[in-house]
Amino acid sequence: MSIKIPRVLLAELISHAMVDDPDECCGLLIGTGGVVDEVHRMTNVSTKPISRYTMQPGELLEARQKARLSGREFVAIYHSHTFSQGYPSRTDISNAVEVASTSNCHVIISLVEKTRPVIRAFKINGESEVTELIVETDGEPYRASD
Ligand SMILES: [Zn+2]
Repeated sequence: MSIKIPRVLLAELISHAMVDDPDECCGLLIGTGGVVDEVHRMTNVSTKPISRYTMQPGELLEARQKARLSGREFVAIYHSHTFSQGYPSRTDISNAVEVASTSNCHVIISLVEKTRPVIRAFKINGESEVTELIVETDGEPYRASD
């Protein structure tokens, strides 16, 4: 399984993560059939944004309506890890079950190595099982070192 994110949007994800650093950023990847065509930034309203993210409910509703009107869907939810690797934390896994109606695909941008951001994607199912997805960009598997 894979998620397709054009290079220009991967750059957009990294720049969002860097702007909000050291807080976690969050947002939505919008598109159709596993192909992302828009990065939609959301406000992280968590009271502990350095290690958690919570999307603003009003913004989420608005984004959902906008996506629906344009015949698209939420392909994934994204957030950053500013001090840890790009793998879902225990909190991410338990939250994933709650936000499953939004999307069960999660993209994480890790800034643990500031000069070498890493983007990874995962599916988290209702049983809290995590499966890594291939991030495909411009027809090729994405590698952080590119
Ligand atoms: Zn996380």
